[in-house]
Amino acid sequence: MGDEKKFKCFVIDLDGVVYKGRELIPGVDRKIASLQRRAKVFFLTNNSTRSRMQYVEKLRDFGIYTTEDDIVTSGYAAAKYITEKYPRGKVYVIGEDGLKKELEWHGVQVCWRDCNIVLVGLDRNINYMKLSLALNFILRGAKFIATNTDNTLVTEKGLMPGAGAIVSAVRMASRKEPTIIGKPSEIIGDIILEKAGVDPQEILVIGDRLETDIAMGKRCGMKTALVLTGYATTEDVKQSSIKPDFVLEQL
Ligand SMILES: [Mg+2]
Repeated sequence: MGDEKKFKCFVIDLDGVVYKGRELIPGVDRKIASLQRRAKVFFLTNNSTRSRMQYVEKLRDFGIYTTEDDIVTSGYAAAKYITEKYPRGKVYVIGEDGLKKELEWHGVQVCWRDCNIVLVGLDRNINYMKLSLALNFILRGAKFIATNTDNTLVTEKGLMPGAGAIVSAVRMASRKEPTIIGKPSEIIGDIILEKAGVDPQEILVIGDRLETDIAMGKRCGMKTALVLTGYATTEDVKQSSIKPDFVLEQL
């Protein structure tokens, strides 16, 4: 990436860019350290299963050092969105502990009765009862919010169903469309812009998915780089209407 020096800020996706599940992508730790020496580096993930603090710890185990302030997850963004937009919201959550922690830290009321918001994220313990509760709150008028709609998740064991698979079940049952918080939404893009405090074109978004990472970057006026260590392939780049500014073998 010859002209990487012109960027003041790098926004790096995690799954498929930094690691695949429990495995670090070789050399990425050193590359990130070198970027951090001369630019602002944020980590941006649609995966809501961990809180920002848990991501700090996971990255530290891989020898990558950062703080909660420099991590943005779809769970954090959803919590921020709900507190700002629905301060009295009572939220039914399909999601894991990391998502619930982010909501708690924002003072969002998470409950199982009379909910007026249904928030759906990745939940590896999803079951029929959870889907039924979500459906019935939505049918009674609750707002339907999705952390993200990634169809799959890249792990060390291969692809696993992503939050989008669960969101689709709720969408199909309720025939309602959710508000989407994570990439490619501007809701999460605006959080990055606000934190970065530089012009969008001085920001390089690095991700492994065209329809989330690259689409968000383009929507927000940022520059984009697709890496081939995760989901998308060079064939996908040829076929897609979403064209990244750069395509890299890896970060
Ligand atoms: Mg990814």
